[in-house]
Amino acid sequence: DMTATVLDGKAFAAKIREQVGAHVARLEAEHGITPGLAVVLVGEDPASHVYVRSKGKMTVEVGMASFEHRLDADTSEADLLALIDQLNADPAVHGILVQLPLPEHLDSDLVINSIDPSKDVDGFHISNVGLLGTGQKSMVPCTPLGCLMMLRDYHGSLSGLNAVVIGRSNIVGKPMAQLLLGESCTVTIAHSRTADLPGVVRQADIVVAAVGRPQMVPGDWIKPGATVIDVGINRIEKPDGGTRLVGDVDYESCAAVAGAITPVPGGVGPMTIACLLANTVTACCRANGLPEPE
Ligand code: NDP
Repeated sequence: DMTATVLDGKAFAAKIREQVGAHVARLEAEHGITPGLAVVLVGEDPASHVYVRSKGKMTVEVGMASFEHRLDADTSEADLLALIDQLNADPAVHGILVQLPLPEHLDSDLVINSIDPSKDVDGFHISNVGLLGTGQKSMVPCTPLGCLMMLRDYHGSLSGLNAVVIGRSNIVGKPMAQLLLGESCTVTIAHSRTADLPGVVRQADIVVAAVGRPQMVPGDWIKPGATVIDVGINRIEKPDGGTRLVGDVDYESCAAVAGAITPVPGGVGPMTIACLLANTVTACCRANGLPEPE
């Protein structure tokens, strides 16, 4: 059979949300605790508003408390930091997420590093980055965590596999590489200065594309049977004038060669939010000295 297995992130994410919901119900019934997620959005970025709305909706759907803070685009750094201090101190808030990108006048490193690391459900605080890099218990960034869960589900053990991550952002590429290293893959991180990117990708048993360039990876870069994880979310124009979402890989040609592939939409995207909810339950359990979900 020449057709790749389609890794259904939508169904997988629904299963995770169901498990999160069951855990939330137990925390409520046995301990009277409701996990709470605070999302802070600064400015008018339309894509960010869409993400924040669906995060809030799913937070409520699994039975958690959702606290949304929408601030004007010209909010001062001092006001934003004061809000984060208030959320850090609020016992009803177990997870804090500041939606990126922030407006230019705000220092996002400073803002992220002002979040209590134990409430940093995005896993972007330097102390969580350091803990992940040294193999210690941390908060793991949601998108790479979702990718890893799909890979583990499909492969079982990843030990000894060649993994190529295309992209070196702090949000996706770097933490993805750390997680794969933690699974004992042989990891290559490729980026815009990589020499012979096609040749590098052809060595990969696992390809994770996190580039932000529509359909950049063609099927003839893919080793036959490899697993392709497409993190990209790119909106492109259709010939008829409308728009559609595509990933960073050319789905048709890659699916013809790969052993398994994630679709866009319906692959990594839904897993990201499911992992955010799971991280919030984990943070809540840790804060209360209770056993964590698997
Ligand atoms: P960034 O723009 O921060 O990083 C992109 C990376 O791709 C950079 O490291 C860059 O290299 C590299 N790159 C750019 N052009 C090339 C090229 N021609 N060849 C090789 N490498 C290249 O993006 P993010 O990591 O934040 O996001 C990547 C994609 O994932 C985007 O499409 C984004 O929308 C999507 N995304 C999806 C999420 C989800 O939930 N599914 C969550 C987060 C992001 P260099 O460092 O050298 O510039």
